[in-house]
Amino acid sequence: MVIEAWPASRQAWERTKASLSGGVSTGLRASMKPHPLFFRGGSGPRLTDLDGNSYVDYVLGWGPVILGHGHPKLTAAVAAQLPYGSTYGAGHLLEAEAAEAVLARIPGTERVLWCSTGSEANLVALRLARAATGRRRFIKFGGHYHGWTDPMLIGYRPGPDGTLGLGSLGQNPATLDDVRLVAWGDLDTTAGLLTTSGTDIAAVFCEPVLCNSGVLEPPPGFLEGLRELCDDTGTVLVFDEVITGFRIDSGGAVTRYGVTPDLVVLAKAIAGGFPLAAVAGRADILDRTTAGVVHAGTYNGNPVVLAAAIATLEALGEPGVYDDFERRGRALADGMRAAFARYDVPVTVHQVGPVVQCLPGVRKARTFDDFLAADQEFYDRLTVQLLRRGVFTLPGGRWYLSTAHTDADIAETVAVIDESLGATL
Ligand code: PLP
Repeated sequence: MVIEAWPASRQAWERTKASLSGGVSTGLRASMKPHPLFFRGGSGPRLTDLDGNSYVDYVLGWGPVILGHGHPKLTAAVAAQLPYGSTYGAGHLLEAEAAEAVLARIPGTERVLWCSTGSEANLVALRLARAATGRRRFIKFGGHYHGWTDPMLIGYRPGPDGTLGLGSLGQNPATLDDVRLVAWGDLDTTAGLLTTSGTDIAAVFCEPVLCNSGVLEPPPGFLEGLRELCDDTGTVLVFDEVITGFRIDSGGAVTRYGVTPDLVVLAKAIAGGFPLAAVAGRADILDRTTAGVVHAGTYNGNPVVLAAAIATLEALGEPGVYDDFERRGRALADGMRAAFARYDVPVTVHQVGPVVQCLPGVRKARTFDDFLAADQEFYDRLTVQLLRRGVFTLPGGRWYLSTAHTDADIAETVAVIDESLGATL
């Protein structure tokens, strides 16, 4: 069956536009084609919309729903915690239990700091790095996303003038001076900045796999090079593993690539869809929150959310999870490549574990500029055809798999990609 229209979603959108700005809770969701959809709920790898259509879900809440929707153990853990209240504003043992689970999975981490969102966790990582080094600026790489805050949004996407700089109206232009932007993979420029006196660099931030702009893996030796440069110059190395954490390996990029940063920023997959983020890493840096570095948050260490995290990390610790992610991710990526080849449409498909990126119109994508060169107009049209055939995907080309996606789901999806491509051309 091919869906022709989404009348209930359209009606819901009209209704929400009267009370929510843009009719959505996050600006990016408004970009969904042909218009934002509204859902009744989900189960496993599937979501059902208000019109009663069922989709295989590769959006997964933009990443967090790593166990699929309504995972029984996650649901049971949250339900078991709920009768004890929503939050205490004081200590409880789930804080330590969840922190211990994080430390056990990520080598080199000694302490955890709980936050609620990845944006906030990156900000406190920056503050800690500044306090630890007595320096002000930080290096970030073009196209890397570390949240929507003023300093972090710099250099994420080119502005209207085509240059990389401020990312939003209302952003404080003075923050531009805090950031030194470098191209992903350019170790020489990074070294130059770190070793020039007076550049005042406290930290190097990166997504160890550039998931937000093409799922670009680090060039060989690059993460090791950053580690060495940061060691030599006393700079804090921060891996923003909001996407990669607990997803591309049990210890995220740290165990996949074998490089240990000073701080790791975590969110999304850590609590299976509940709002939790963290900074994990060196005790001498994180313990500064007890010595003058302010980090606060009414919802930090929320017991319901931490019960979700413990259940999620336990489920991800079951045997074979990461092998299955790799195998199914590869099957989806290979199927995508084969479908594009059949229609003779140039494409680059990247895959790291359960994260897949489709870049139509480019034959090889190694850089942020290659990612920007992808044919997004074509991809937008493809996503509508996929949606009409029951496959729900993100704008921009990234796909996420959960533990609930089966080989049969992937095979069905590959057939839908083929059919959808035919309908798009
Ligand atoms: N860092 C990365 C790598 C992300 O992908 C995101 C969100 O997508 C963030 C930080 C911000 O996290 P949040 O949306 O929880 O604020």
